[in-house]
Amino acid sequence: MKHTKHNGFDQYPLRQELLQAIVGKGFTEPTPVQTKVLGYESLAGDLIVRAKTGSGKTLAFLLPLFSDERMISRIPGVLIVSPTRELALQISREATWLSGNLECTCASLVGGMEINGQIRDLQRGASLIVGTPGRILDHIRRGTLHTDTVHTVVLDEGDHMLDMGFREELEGILDATRKREKTWLFSATMPDSVRKLSRRYLSNPEMISLVDDCEQHSEIAHTVYTVPRKRKLEGLANVLLWENSSRGLIFCHTRAETREVAQRLVDEGFRAACLHGDMSQRERNQALSQFSSGHISYLVATNVAARGLDVPGVEHVFQLGLPSDAEMFIHRSGRTGRAGQAGHNILILNQLEAEKLRFMLRGTGIHITWLPVPDSSVIHDTQRSRFEDKIFSQKANENQQIRSWAADLIARADVLDLVTGLLSLSGNSFQTGYALQKELQQESDLRKNNGRNVQKSISSERLRSRRQRGTAVRLGISNPAEWNAGRVLKTVCTSLGVSRREVAEIVLKPDHVMVGLLPAALEKYRRYPENLSQAGLLQQTTTHRQPKGKKRETSRSYQVHV
Ligand code: ADP
Ligand code: MG
Repeated sequence: MKHTKHNGFDQYPLRQELLQAIVGKGFTEPTPVQTKVLGYESLAGDLIVRAKTGSGKTLAFLLPLFSDERMISRIPGVLIVSPTRELALQISREATWLSGNLECTCASLVGGMEINGQIRDLQRGASLIVGTPGRILDHIRRGTLHTDTVHTVVLDEGDHMLDMGFREELEGILDATRKREKTWLFSATMPDSVRKLSRRYLSNPEMISLVDDCEQHSEIAHTVYTVPRKRKLEGLANVLLWENSSRGLIFCHTRAETREVAQRLVDEGFRAACLHGDMSQRERNQALSQFSSGHISYLVATNVAARGLDVPGVEHVFQLGLPSDAEMFIHRSGRTGRAGQAGHNILILNQLEAEKLRFMLRGTGIHITWLPVPDSSVIHDTQRSRFEDKIFSQKANENQQIRSWAADLIARADVLDLVTGLLSLSGNSFQTGYALQKELQQESDLRKNNGRNVQKSISSERLRSRRQRGTAVRLGISNPAEWNAGRVLKTVCTSLGVSRREVAEIVLKPDHVMVGLLPAALEKYRRYPENLSQAGLLQQTTTHRQPKGKKRETSRSYQVHV
């Protein structure tokens, strides 16, 4: 046998056949989630596992399941439910190589595929069933999948199945498999909907959590590029040229948008295709395999189509437009940086969206680099040096024919003329993107001006509706002429790291300012008063009165509601 070298999977009670498959695949160490699950003393009961995407959850549940004697039979024993077709097929591929040395059969029951073939597979007998919720339930109702013998149900990406509206199907499946011994729930996040489901269908689950909400994917670098409002596609083209990714997944919101974006990219000369739910399963598989094989560099997809996908070596995820919430942001970015590789998560947003994103991600501790979209001039310079690198790395000097041709040309013509001629033939052919900088700057200036006017009116309304002014804090200012309410607000928010909503009121006085802080801001202030003093707002005395909006007798007293 081949595996004489130490393998990190050796220490667990796994069948020899599985160990051989792992060694054959070249895996040497279990990932942290695999270590946790495999090392668990009892895997006989219910389990909830929280781990980030790309952490190797599939093997974490397949390995212990395949170690069960009953897997050799041809009766349905393990049912794995997964949110999307692609993900289900991916799990069955993983199951196939893993069980290559075992007499174990697997059936995939995914939507969009011909049902008769699936019925035949089930009749032939399979102990492992992997599928999407709707199709599995369909087979249960048709009586083509018998669930009496199912002893284990695995819900993969539980959070997403619920997001995608599969609650009823999941409940149907869980109700139909009531004789099961155990239910394992895998989920990167635990929203209330998942908790509710687990309370109802899992009994005393063991919890294994490898997620620290604050630092999902520390190996992924996040960058936001701001683009002019109506030039998102041009912005995308510039970013793609700049980042020069060899394999990138581009997320859009709608199916129509994926088509439009993919077409535009093809027109621009990129190798791209789309992936969305209106495509037939065959078309989807084709797009995916073109992408996996490197035949195309960019796959433009909707969230649903791309959920849970594991295409190795995705260098970049590009999110076109604002993700709907922080969890989607995290999940989309999880398509890159798989299995500990470095990845880049890039968002292409207009300036308003960028501000919303800042707000959405507050308190998550995710570090983001904010940049304006690269302009055609810098792209030109970069493309030029890439082109020069290519020239220098050409191994033309090893090709005698080309070398003697070059020598002949040099003998006949001036070198400067020659190079100029060659460059104008080929060197000018690279793409340099669009000039967007000026438009972006104009929008930014406009936003700043409007922001000043809009802020007061919107904010005072907000205050009225909230009828809450917070706790008044008195802050000294050394040079009052330099301060206005807007600057105070900005300083307070940035130094305390709170949002504008946490500052209820600002009242400027000749030598100090009264700021009404709501609880979150107040707590930060109490913990880090020095942050404000460093920014020029000096702590004086904290009063616990509410600041009154009434006019005071001071000469320069006015109030701004924010
Ligand atoms: P998750 O379900 O947590 O998102 P996957 O199970 O899809 O992650 O695994 C991500 C990738 O890591 C897959 O390509 C898988 O083959 C690979 N992988 C899993 N376990 C290991 C391991 N122990 N060593 C190396 N690669 C692994
Ligand atoms: Mg997975």
